[in-house]
Amino acid sequence: MRIAIGGISHETSTFAHTRTTVADFADGFGLFRGPEIINRFRGSNICTGGFIDGADKHGYELVPLLWGFAYPSGLITATDYAALKSEFLDRLQQAQREPGGIDGVLLDLHGAMVVEGIDDADADVIEGVRGVVGPAIPIVVTFDLHGNHSARRIAAASAIVGFDTYPHVDMAERGREAADLIVKILNREIQPMMAIERIPMFWGVENQITAHPPMKELMDYAHAVETRPGILCVSIATGFPWADVANMGASVMVVADRDQDLAEATARELRDWIWTRRETWRHRILTVDDALDQGEKLGKYPIILADHGDNTGGGAPGDSVEILATFLNRKLRDAVLLYIVDPEVVAQATAAGVGAVIDTAVGGKSDPIQGPPVKMRATVRALSQGDFTYDGPMYAGLTGNMGPSAWLEQDGVHVVVVTAHEQPLGPAFARTLGIDCESLKYIAVKSAVHFRSGFERFAGSIFNVDARATHTHDFRDLTYHKRPRPMFPLELT
Ligand SMILES: [Zn+2]
Repeated sequence: MRIAIGGISHETSTFAHTRTTVADFADGFGLFRGPEIINRFRGSNICTGGFIDGADKHGYELVPLLWGFAYPSGLITATDYAALKSEFLDRLQQAQREPGGIDGVLLDLHGAMVVEGIDDADADVIEGVRGVVGPAIPIVVTFDLHGNHSARRIAAASAIVGFDTYPHVDMAERGREAADLIVKILNREIQPMMAIERIPMFWGVENQITAHPPMKELMDYAHAVETRPGILCVSIATGFPWADVANMGASVMVVADRDQDLAEATARELRDWIWTRRETWRHRILTVDDALDQGEKLGKYPIILADHGDNTGGGAPGDSVEILATFLNRKLRDAVLLYIVDPEVVAQATAAGVGAVIDTAVGGKSDPIQGPPVKMRATVRALSQGDFTYDGPMYAGLTGNMGPSAWLEQDGVHVVVVTAHEQPLGPAFARTLGIDCESLKYIAVKSAVHFRSGFERFAGSIFNVDARATHTHDFRDLTYHKRPRPMFPLELT
């Protein structure tokens, strides 16, 4: 049994001004081809790691094609996407011509990828694969919790498995689930039939944390439904609202065994369960000052502020400065901001060298709403080329790179200025610079939820804030042309 594996994966913000290219894929987690994929991801906590585990469990032969993931950012250029897709499909065709051909395909996708001119790029990938392998070969796809799903994807794939956790810590487990499904399909033990129900809803990010209510109740319910006879898999997707596309929004996908009616009825049941509770998923906005006031009153340190509006992990530019300015205005000490994306300031700090004091203007350059830049007279405390190793639980054991980076300090307010657009999943990169986050009183992170995987264990208190930035959660401020209307909570109540 020969199973092809691979994927082209991106969470695309159509509101970010930057474009995403093949170089961004190479610089992110990297682009891997053929056996490199297995060497890189064996034992790692991503879906492809689970596909590889599946080979050990079931004894199938892995046929690794192409795997690429760029950090969330703006639209992928049409030419660069075309190059990635054609390489992927060429490798698949090549594998088909080899002795034994291909028996099945496991795809590691995100679900919110948008390309210039291709709004539903995930469907485009699956349909491309289907076009090569024909109708008889199973294609099982794993998706992030934040996909904007469509009927096209359901039609082109044989089965779909979405993440059940946020922060995403079950990626390898979902990969193993996909591997189990494809083997059962090939052994003719099951015959999957799928249904999707889309839910016209903006889902507050802070209400998606699967370890906490209300999301925990939903996931417990979904897992209970999965134990019913005939149900193979239930996936809840909360959607990715910073994509102005027709399929934007939450959805439920159900895979049933040989029973289309059961798949459809179950998807409707879950949709109704979520919709009747829609008020519980609404986002509530807290300003930076409100959060700090509440935190000081509570007195549990470190106080962690999650900068939702400028979450680089969701493709935001990462240079909004309201939190930095507030830290300085309030004359806080033992405060750190992770991270501001500002290559100019990194270059200035690098030229000045460690120990130098520089007059600089930090952040606020990508868009007027992100600024204005904050004037600092800062000491360069450390410099880095950006390499570090994730220490988990997310991406445990994988390496990352924040690009050339600098640790600046002014009167007890510390800021790590970086070049790459990636959120802090934990204190690992700050530690490489010499910052001991656990000893600080105030930590701000440009991350909405994933930071919890590395910071929650030592946090005193955590506040979700909506500072001025392009990825505001006040969706009234975003101009959409293509998304569905009406949606809750804007046009629908
Ligand atoms: Zn996600």
